[in-house]
Amino acid sequence: MTTDQDGIKARIKNISSTLPEWVELAAVSKFHSPDAVRAAYDAGQRIFCESRAAELAMKAAQLPDDIQWHFIGHLQSNKIKLVVPYAHTIQSIDSEKLLRAIDAEASRTGRHINVLLQVHVAAEESKYGLTPRELTELAERTHGSLTNVTVTGIMGMATNTDSEQRINADFEAIRSLFHNLKTGIMAGNPDFRVLSMGMSHDYHLAIAHGSTMVRIGTSIFGEREY
Ligand SMILES: *Cc1c(COP(=O)(O)O)cnc(C)c1O
Repeated sequence: MTTDQDGIKARIKNISSTLPEWVELAAVSKFHSPDAVRAAYDAGQRIFCESRAAELAMKAAQLPDDIQWHFIGHLQSNKIKLVVPYAHTIQSIDSEKLLRAIDAEASRTGRHINVLLQVHVAAEESKYGLTPRELTELAERTHGSLTNVTVTGIMGMATNTDSEQRINADFEAIRSLFHNLKTGIMAGNPDFRVLSMGMSHDYHLAIAHGSTMVRIGTSIFGEREY
């Protein structure tokens, strides 16, 4: 299948122009070709998200160096080595073990990586992430003890549902957790600033709840072929 380069460029420009200036657009390019990433890049897009380690490494190795690669999938320990050389931010920290292993690998290879702690509030059991309480405890336990990793915020997803009420409640729970950390353990820390929430179908609601970064795939690149 050939890539619809003009369509991708038009949708990047269109979505970017409608976001408030304090909201960053992270383009979710998982399962799409390097050509698709290149089209978005040519339209000015610089933040791209991938969910599989080998796919991120493959694309990062052949695409421009000024791309900020974000990892958003469940990261297994044996794949850390693939992601650390390229990742600007790992958004999907769901355990202390993973966080410390990334810090160790970054330190071993002289890298510095930003991370977001992933919270789980959605109804689906299948989704990864920490409960608000687990996330807060992880932030407290690791505070001040990481050398090559900076915790820059949190990432979360709302329940996949048509109920706006449920989506609003989920985003509100994520926003409230972010606020509690920002005024608690992270108080006075300007690095802690990213509230990553909102996808193609719900990003308008996420922005209304204070999102500072939306992760959009389908509305830019079209449906994924898994
Ligand atoms: C795939 C994915 C997205 C993008 O979803 P779309 O509905 O295609 O916009 C956002 N965030 C995460 C964590 C994802 O896995």
